Amino acid sequence: MSHEIRIDKTKSPKAKPDQSNLGFGKYFTDHMFIMDYTEGTGWHDARIVPYGPLELDPATAALHYGQAIFEGMKAYNTQDGRILLFRPHKNMQRINVTNARMCIPQIDEDFFVDAVKALVNIDRDWIPASQGTSLYIRPFIFATDAVLGVHPSNTYKFIVILSPVGAYYSTGINPVKIYVENSYVRAVKGGTGFAKTCGNYAASLKAQAEAAEKGYIQVLWLDGVEKKYVEEVGSMNVFFKINGEVITPSLEGSILPGITRDSTIHLLKSMGIKVTERRIAIQEVFDAHKAGLLEEAFGTGTAAVISPIGELNWNGTGIIVNNGCTGELSSHIYDTITGIQSGELPDTFNWTVEVK
Ligand SMILES: *Cc1c(COP(=O)(O)O)cnc(C)c1O
Repeated sequence: MSHEIRIDKTKSPKAKPDQSNLGFGKYFTDHMFIMDYTEGTGWHDARIVPYGPLELDPATAALHYGQAIFEGMKAYNTQDGRILLFRPHKNMQRINVTNARMCIPQIDEDFFVDAVKALVNIDRDWIPASQGTSLYIRPFIFATDAVLGVHPSNTYKFIVILSPVGAYYSTGINPVKIYVENSYVRAVKGGTGFAKTCGNYAASLKAQAEAAEKGYIQVLWLDGVEKKYVEEVGSMNVFFKINGEVITPSLEGSILPGITRDSTIHLLKSMGIKVTERRIAIQEVFDAHKAGLLEEAFGTGTAAVISPIGELNWNGTGIIVNNGCTGELSSHIYDTITGIQSGELPDTFNWTVEVK
């Protein structure tokens, strides 16, 4: 399969947004990457074209049955003028795990990274430079057969778009209030919880909206069978520091295997901190708080990197974690990961890949 990328540059570049007020996912760069899949031919017609609307048949399968997936990663400008991606091969491995679950054809993993690099390179002037900002990269794939029968599509589009984003927290990292969800569930074993598929998000919106009405920024999901064990928080994995040990739910099929989660585990181990992946009951977290042993709690994900949890509410009982302050460990992990991503700290784990 040959993968030449055809390039069609825009003739009317857009004005760049104000770097001090980017928000998240509101602005898009001048170009996008597109590649098509046709049964029998495979992936073909890789191209970088001006960013713009797509024309779709109203019967497009993804719009009806949700055969659609995505990834999320970032590119960073370094002080010395380099552009770094963070562990992009992890995203390409994960996109194929997701694809396999959703009956979407596999993508050549090295080509995926090459395509992202080529696109980022063309729009490199869009990567913001100020502290905490980055270029968010959104690869996604959706089924394009224009047929209403329910079956895996024979045609797909793989697209990558780019969005300059601001620091997730304008005033540094701040603890958030989390609602422990006890009626809706996100995923069950055998379902699609481990896959980065659009339907998981569609199914989560109701709980998120109800939590927001009560004043909480996100929900903490419990397991879909007993509603007893902690799964993840919104679109982040979750960690608890209890009596010096860091505990995170083990990956058993219903949790998204986050790359920030994996990086955090590596970092903690390298610091000599005990980190355990296992099932953890929400009752255990509340009991640890009662005993004065719950030291920190935080979420991990590409968008925010680390999001400290300041308050948890479960069945009407609220607990304040670490006096509602950002913990020492949460801060340290945030500083270390963002330092490596932006090239300010030595890349001791070989996590960054330069775009040239
Ligand atoms: C993407 C995602 C995460 C975080 O994964 P990262 O690779 O760390 O960005 C966590 N949970 C869900 C449900 C996700 O979709």
